[in-house]
Amino acid sequence: MSIQVFGLAVARGVAIGRAVLVTSGRVDVAHYFVAPDQVEGEIARLSDARDAVAAEFTTLQRDMPADAPPELSALIDVHLMLVHDESLIGAAAQWVRERHYNAEWALSAQLEVLARHFDEMEDEYLRERKADLEQVTERILTALTRNARGDRAISTPGAGDFGGEEPLVLVASDISPADMLHFKRSVFTGFVTDVGGRTSHTAIVARSMDIPAVVGAREASRLIRQDDWVVIDGDAGAVIVNPPPIVLEEYRFRQRQHELERARLNRLRHTPALTLDGEAVELLANIELPEDAAVALEAGAVGVGLFRSEFLFMNRGQDLPGEDEQFEAYRAAVLAMKGLPVTIRTVDIGADKPLDRLTLHELRHEHTLNPALGLRAIRWSLAEPSMFRQQLRAILRASAYGKVKLLLPMVAHLSEARLTREALVRAKQQLRDAGHAFTDIEVGAMIEIPAAALMLGSLLRHFDFVSIGTNDLIQYTLAIDRADEQVAHLYDAWHPAVVGLIASTIERTNAAGKSVSVCGEMAGDPSFTALLLSMGLRSFSMHPRQIAAVKQAVLRADTRKLRAVLPQVLAADEPQAAAEAVFATQRN
Ligand code: PEP
Ligand code: MG
Repeated sequence: MSIQVFGLAVARGVAIGRAVLVTSGRVDVAHYFVAPDQVEGEIARLSDARDAVAAEFTTLQRDMPADAPPELSALIDVHLMLVHDESLIGAAAQWVRERHYNAEWALSAQLEVLARHFDEMEDEYLRERKADLEQVTERILTALTRNARGDRAISTPGAGDFGGEEPLVLVASDISPADMLHFKRSVFTGFVTDVGGRTSHTAIVARSMDIPAVVGAREASRLIRQDDWVVIDGDAGAVIVNPPPIVLEEYRFRQRQHELERARLNRLRHTPALTLDGEAVELLANIELPEDAAVALEAGAVGVGLFRSEFLFMNRGQDLPGEDEQFEAYRAAVLAMKGLPVTIRTVDIGADKPLDRLTLHELRHEHTLNPALGLRAIRWSLAEPSMFRQQLRAILRASAYGKVKLLLPMVAHLSEARLTREALVRAKQQLRDAGHAFTDIEVGAMIEIPAAALMLGSLLRHFDFVSIGTNDLIQYTLAIDRADEQVAHLYDAWHPAVVGLIASTIERTNAAGKSVSVCGEMAGDPSFTALLLSMGLRSFSMHPRQIAAVKQAVLRADTRKLRAVLPQVLAADEPQAAAEAVFATQRN
C-alpha cells in the first residue's frame, strides 16, 4: 500500500530507493557492500558470531549457581532459542547473499524486520520478547565487532560497486551531526528522519552532501519498512512509500530534470560572480572536513568562509585531536585551497553538536538543561584554556602555508575578544619558543546572537571582520530551537526582526570599512540572494554545491536597483511579500 509522510524539506531534489532502516543508537553499525567473492566469508562471520554467542549462553547456564532464580535459566533458554532461530541469522544471511550487505548491516536490517513483527503481535507476552531479540542481536553484533575485518567502515563504497544496483535511502528516527559525517561518502542517495529542523546540523550536512533529504517527518521510521520503495521529494518535504507505477514514473521524470538543471548550473562554475552593474561578489565555501576543500575549489569557491572545525572533534570520546593532528587538518585545507583564504572557526561544540554521538533526544533529556543556551562555542573554548590554546597554535601554524583567518563562534561579550587576544599572544609566544613559523592572522566574530548585532559598534573596534551566522541569529532572535521540528513553522528568516538585524549588521560593518559575510544557510539559498545584495552584502559563504545556483542569482541582479527598493522591504510588516513584489518589479 502506498502512503505519504510529510516533513521539512532540507535538501533539494528527488531520491528513489529502497529503505534501509537504522534505529537510533545503531547508526554506528558498519554499512558497506561486500564483493561477490566475499559473500560466503561474510555469511561465515555471521554464523561464527552466532556460535560464539550461543556458547556464551551455554556457559552461563552451566555455571549458574544452584540457588539462582529459575526465571533466569528460562530467560537464557529463550535467548538461546532466538540465537538459533533461522529467522534471525538465516534471514540475515539472505541479505548478504542477495544484497551483498556486510554482516553487521544484514543483521541490523533483519532486526528491524523482526522488531516490526513483534510490535504488531496481539499477545503482550510475545510483544515483550522484542527486548530479548534486541539483546541477543546486540550480543551478536558485539561478537561480530570483535571479529571485524580490518577494512570495516560505517559506510564505504557507492551502491553498485559490488552488485548493489538498487539505490538505497536511509530512514532513521534521528541522526547526529557526527553520524552524518560518516554518510558523506556513503551508499545512500537520500535520507529521512523523524526529528530535526531545517537548520539543524544534521540537515546542514545533508545539504552539503547534496542529497535529497526530509527531516522532522515524525512517524517515518515507524511507517516505513525495511526494503520498502521510497521516493524522497526534497523540494516538497514529502516521502512517498511504495508509490504506484504512475507516481514513480513522474518522480523519475523530475529526477532527470533536476540532473539536467544541475548540469546546466555547473557550467557557471568558473564564471566570475559579477552583478549586472558590475559589482564583484565573493562566493565562499562552508566546509566540515579538510577534504571538503577540494570540492569547494572544484565548485568555483574563491575561498573558505567557514571551516566548522568542531567536526574534527566529534566521535572521539576522550581522544580529542591534539595540536599536531589539528595542524595537519588545517594545513591540508589551506594547501588544498591553493592560496585562497581559509577562515577557520574555533570549535563550536554544544547544543545539537555534542562531542560524543548523542541523538537530539538524548541531548534534550539526559544532558544539559538547555544546551542551546549553555556552555557552547567560544564559551566552551574559554572554559578549556589549554585545549583552546592548542587549537590556536594549530591554526597559527597552518597560517604559514596560506591565507588563514580566525573566526569565533557565538560572541556576545567583549571579554571574549580580550581573552582570545590574550590566548593568541600566549600561543604565539609558545610557537616562537618551539621554533614554529606562523603569520599574523585576522580575528573575526560571528554575529549570531542578537546581543552581538546590537553592540556591533563595540565589536567592530575589537575584531577585524564579522560573519553573520543566520542559523543561530534566527534561533536566538525568535527563541525558536533550530533543531526542533515542532516549532519549525515559526523559524522564519523573513521575520522583520531578523531582516532588520541582518540589514543593520551589514550596513554598519560596511560603513566601518570592515568586511562582512553571511555564512548561515541563508547565504546558500538563492531566494535570499537579492535581499542580501540589496543590503550591501558582497561576501556569501555556503556549501560548495549551492555556489552555482547563488551565482546565477548574482549574475541576474542589479545592485543599484535592488538598493533603491530595500527601504520598502525593511519598512514592511511582511518583508517576504514586499521583497517578492519590489524585487520582481526591478527586474523588469
Ligand atoms: C550559523 O549559526 O548560521 C552558522 C553558520 O553556524 P552553525 O550553523 O555551525 O551554528
Ligand atoms: Mg552558529
